[in-house]
Amino acid sequence: MAKLRFEALKKLNERLKVHVDLPTPNISHFFGENVFGMEQMRSTLAPAVYKKVNSAIKNHEKIDEATTDAVASAAKSWAMAKGATHFTHWFQPLTGGTAEKHDSFFDALSGIEKFKGSELVQQEPDASSFPSGGIRSTFEARGYTAWDPTSPMFLYGRTLSIPTVFVSYTGETLDAKSPLLKALKAVDLAATQVCQLFDKDIQHVVASLGSEQEYFVVDEALYNARPDLVMAGRTVFGHAPARGQQLEDHYFGTIPSRVYDFMRDFEIECWKLGIPVRTRHNEVAPSQFEVAPLFEEVNVANDHNLLMMDVMSRVGEKHDLKILFHEKPFAGVNGSGKHNNWSLITDTGVNLYAPSSSARDNLLFLTFFITTIKAVHEHADLLRASIATPGNDFRLGANEAPPAIMSVFIGTQMTAVLDELEKKGNVKIEKGDNMYMKLGIDQIPEIILDATDRNRTSPFAFTGNKFEFRAVGSSDNCATAMTALNLIVADQLDRFFAEVSKLIEKGEERRLAVVNVLRKYIKESKDIRFGGDGYSDEWVKEAAKRKLNNVKNMPRALDAYLTKKSAELFEKHAVLTHKEVEARNEIRLESYIKRVQIEARVMGDLAMNHIVPTAINYQSKLITNANGLKGLGVDNKAVIQTIKEIAEHIDTIKKNVRAMVEERKRVNKMTDTHKRAIAYCDDIKEKYFEVIRDAVDDLELLIDDEDWPLVKYRELLFLR
Ligand code: ADP
Ligand code: MG
Repeated sequence: MAKLRFEALKKLNERLKVHVDLPTPNISHFFGENVFGMEQMRSTLAPAVYKKVNSAIKNHEKIDEATTDAVASAAKSWAMAKGATHFTHWFQPLTGGTAEKHDSFFDALSGIEKFKGSELVQQEPDASSFPSGGIRSTFEARGYTAWDPTSPMFLYGRTLSIPTVFVSYTGETLDAKSPLLKALKAVDLAATQVCQLFDKDIQHVVASLGSEQEYFVVDEALYNARPDLVMAGRTVFGHAPARGQQLEDHYFGTIPSRVYDFMRDFEIECWKLGIPVRTRHNEVAPSQFEVAPLFEEVNVANDHNLLMMDVMSRVGEKHDLKILFHEKPFAGVNGSGKHNNWSLITDTGVNLYAPSSSARDNLLFLTFFITTIKAVHEHADLLRASIATPGNDFRLGANEAPPAIMSVFIGTQMTAVLDELEKKGNVKIEKGDNMYMKLGIDQIPEIILDATDRNRTSPFAFTGNKFEFRAVGSSDNCATAMTALNLIVADQLDRFFAEVSKLIEKGEERRLAVVNVLRKYIKESKDIRFGGDGYSDEWVKEAAKRKLNNVKNMPRALDAYLTKKSAELFEKHAVLTHKEVEARNEIRLESYIKRVQIEARVMGDLAMNHIVPTAINYQSKLITNANGLKGLGVDNKAVIQTIKEIAEHIDTIKKNVRAMVEERKRVNKMTDTHKRAIAYCDDIKEKYFEVIRDAVDDLELLIDDEDWPLVKYRELLFLR
């Protein structure tokens, strides 16, 4: 095993530079060249057909058969001209990641290439091995994928890829995308209705997302020499390096050249696929980086994020690099997240979260701003549940990432505005008065423009013209978090509209009715607002006083999906039925159990078969040495002390690994998934992982570097 480590390290020095050239000096010349989007449809479809597709997409309508035949035929010609031989329905099963099954255009029976509208619209992948949380066994054994025309098709390799949803035969959703599309429709309807109180021209509201993706990069040979990284995506052992992130010199520092070449390479592939990647930089931890795209409509942005992760992994191979998307691959240095920058934008081009210079628009802005805060207050637990992943449990609240307590940061200026509005709300508006002036709404544009008013410790922060949901895990599909967020905001906007309408019916002036409801919301949702240090212990205490939950692990967090309040929310907006919600929870709990189980096994295997034998060998060498010293009459106390310490650590490891195995046997017999997940969390992970790790990491410091079998943190993390 130590041999493997040193062979891997040797490979590191033999790495050759991979040359990366832009296809043409101008990115605009090849951006989106592998996308069959609206532009391509416009130029290849008959105008009437194109119009139909366009309007169906905007209005969430079905597309008729003749139209889909035309689209399929145009897509096939476009793709084949670019060398495509196959097509695939590309979907997002509940296992995470994406899935696909390729079919050739070539039809041997007729001897020609074919692609019918019906094949574009619907396919039946052999889906029996995708998780369904019991849905399929109860209802129907088959599932199908169905075209999502709102996200463009793309050419990936030689395959025309068609973004699709994945549903069971009886209509239950089995993927991450379907509920997202429904939540986006709900927020469009609700937001448009509210907007029309202010501006009748607004017909649609689109939610947008820019997700900043954090990741680690390690050399492939070193990665392969760490079975824990290979099996579990994170290191279960490893002593912190002498130099970690305390110098904070990695953040925005020079990007190591190997990584720089990798970044340029994957960016080029992303641009061809129409993914608007834009920003690249180092992150806080060594070997940690971030890529941020320009924001897009949520569904498209999310497809792009998933596709980008795939592109990154593939391009990484070319550079002998492994890309780690795990939330916490290394202990002692920062983990990775996926900041979800989110806003709502009208079809008239107004960002509803951007304060403006006009008082009328500012009332619209405040409506959305305050209603969103209120929504987070109402459904904080659901939002927390939406970002639960096994990996995120290691990150949330670990003094480096947003805490597991949901709160909203809005900055001092906006706090002042809300305080002012809350106090002033009762003013009597006389004829001729400028209501906006009296309410202080007129002055928002000037006070907002302080970019330094930021808080990196908040899970949900207002950043000037958008909210940033920072608690999403780096490996996660943003769809789950975005479904929850858009759904709760949609629901709150609906309630807001109903309350305002009622006041108007009673004869209240429209704008005053709006302000009055907002005042009420400001008061009711105050507890969710927090501007201090989210990483501090004081906040944990303060949050408890405010009755804000601090759910530290995934199995417990998921309970928020099953409350009556959440069930009603999902059903009211037709996003998920209660049965679907239950099935999803079941799947997520199962995946949690499997992940902890794998980690426990890897830990046991590495500890017993690699670490303990190494320790015993080294101990034997020390014993020989101690005896030799004794024969020479030299003091051997220090050596004997080390021998004893090693013996103690070996003992701790053996005892705990054995106990953990027994515990697993007991827990595996539990039939209730929820109880089993909790037991995996409390009785296995919490109880044994730290103890075993501490003993192993101590041994790493005692044993000769020449003998140590696992690639060390300093070797993994300081890629140059
Ligand atoms: P910050 O400095 O606040 O992180 P950036 O300009 O770097 O802001 O943007 C971070 C991410 O937020 C980018 O992906 C960007 O496209 C996205 N973003 C900017 N404006 C919006 C918006 N209105 N809605 C959604 N995302 C946005
Ligand atoms: Mg940011």
